[in-house]
Amino acid sequence: MKYISYLLSNFKNIPQMKKLEQQYLDDIEIVGSVLPFKTNNYVVDNLIDWSKVPDDPMFKLTFPQKDMLLPHHYEKMKSVVMNGADKLKIKEAANEIRMQLNPHPAGQLEYNVPIIEGEKIYGMQHKYRETVLFFPSQGQTCHAYCTFCFRWPQFVGMEDLKFASKEAELLVKYVKEHDEVTDVLFTGGDPLIMKTKHLEAYIRPLLEANLENLRHIRIGSKALAYWPYRFLTDDDADDLLRLFEDVHKAGKHLAFMAHFNHPAELEGYAVEKAIKRILDTGAVIRTQSPVLKHINDDSKIWADMLRKQVNLGCIPYYMFVARNTGAQHYFSIPLIQAWKIFRETYQSVSGICRTLRGPSMSCLPGKVQILGVAEIKNEKVMVFRMIQGRNPDWAARPFFAEYDEKAIWYTDLKPAFGEEKFFFTDELNQILNPEEIEYDLE
Ligand SMILES: *Cc1c(COP(=O)(O)O)cnc(C)c1O
Ligand code: SF4
Repeated sequence: MKYISYLLSNFKNIPQMKKLEQQYLDDIEIVGSVLPFKTNNYVVDNLIDWSKVPDDPMFKLTFPQKDMLLPHHYEKMKSVVMNGADKLKIKEAANEIRMQLNPHPAGQLEYNVPIIEGEKIYGMQHKYRETVLFFPSQGQTCHAYCTFCFRWPQFVGMEDLKFASKEAELLVKYVKEHDEVTDVLFTGGDPLIMKTKHLEAYIRPLLEANLENLRHIRIGSKALAYWPYRFLTDDDADDLLRLFEDVHKAGKHLAFMAHFNHPAELEGYAVEKAIKRILDTGAVIRTQSPVLKHINDDSKIWADMLRKQVNLGCIPYYMFVARNTGAQHYFSIPLIQAWKIFRETYQSVSGICRTLRGPSMSCLPGKVQILGVAEIKNEKVMVFRMIQGRNPDWAARPFFAEYDEKAIWYTDLKPAFGEEKFFFTDELNQILNPEEIEYDLE
C-alpha cells in the first residue's frame, strides 16, 4: 500500500472532501493553520465513516474543527486566512495564538532535561527514576496528527520549542551512568515514522553496550492505528520486525506502547495482521489513550476498545486525562466524569481487560490518578494517588482534594479538610527551584 499524506496544501484533493460543505473546508484551513494538521489515505479510506461526517469521531480526531480554537482566536485567524494574507502574516498570527495555548505543559522543557558532563541533552527527558524518554531527531512527525496532541508545538515549526536528539552515543552513555534506569522509551512524534535503518542506529548500540540495568526498550507509536502497513508492506517492514526480534534475542523486553483512541482503529485486516506480526517477534503491545470529549467519552466505547485490544493480544495500560494544552477546552471533561467513565468501563469488562490504569494526569508532580469520590468526616472529597512521582516515594500514597465537579486538571484542585497544601507540595517546590532552597537554608 502506498502512503499518501494529506496536509493543508492538498487536503481538498481528498475525494470524500467534495461532499463536505464549504464551511467545514474553511474551518480546516483556519484551525489547521494554528494546530497541526496531517492525515493520510489509510485514515481517510478505512477509519473515517464518511456517512457520519462531520460527527464521526475519527474525522474529529484528525481534521481540525472550528471549536478547537477559542472563539476569539478563531475569529482572529478567520480574518487573517480568509482575507488571503500571505504566509508570513498567517504564521505570525498563528504563533501569537500558539503561545497562549501552553505549548509546554508539565514543565517538560525546563525540568526533565538530563545532563551529561555538564551539558543539557535536549533530546531526552528523565522525570521518573526508571525511565528515560528519548526523542530521535528523525522521529519528530507522525503518519497523521491527532487534533488533541500535546506534542503539537513540535509539528508546527516552533523550532525553539522542539526537542530532538541525534545522539545515540549519549543515550548509551547516560543509561550506563545511571544504574537506576531500566527503561528507555523512544517517543516523538512517532519514532516509527523513521526508516528502520535510522531507528536501528539508536537501538542496536543500546543492545551492543550490554547494559545490565537496561531491561525494557519501549517504543511509543500510533503507527498501528494510522499506518499499519508500516509492519506489512513498507519497504523496510520486515527489517523492522527483525529488529524487534533482535531486541528480544538480546534478552530485553520490547514494549510496544500503542496509542489507540477509538475502537475503529482496531478494525480491519491490516491492523490485525500488523499486531500479529509484532507479537510474533516476542514483543508485548500495551495500549493507551486519553479520554476525550467528542471522541471516546463513553464507557461503552472504552469497553469495546479494551475488548478488541485484548482479543488481538494487546494489554490495556493507561487511560489519560487530556492535557492542559492546545485544544484542551474542546477535548476536556471534568475529572469526576473521567473517573465515572473509567469505573463504568472497569465494571463492564473481564479482569483480563482491567489492567487499564487511570484516569491519570501527566502533570508537574507526576502521574496523578483519580481514584474516586469518598465521604470522610462528613466532607465529600476526591481521592487521588500518584502512579509515578517526580520523587519515587510519592507513588501509591492516597491524598485528598475538595470535591469539585468542574475540575479538569490537577491545578484546579484544592487540598481537602481545609489544609493548605498537598503532602508533596513543599518538596515539589524544592525540586523545581533548587536555588531557592539554598537561599532558604542560608
Ligand atoms: C508516563 C511517563 C513515563 C512512563 O511511565 P510508566 O508509568 O512507567 O509507563 C516516563 N516518563 C514520562 C515523562 C512520562 O510521562
Ligand atoms: S500520533 Fe501521538 S505524537 Fe503523533 S499526533 Fe497523535 S498523539 Fe501526537
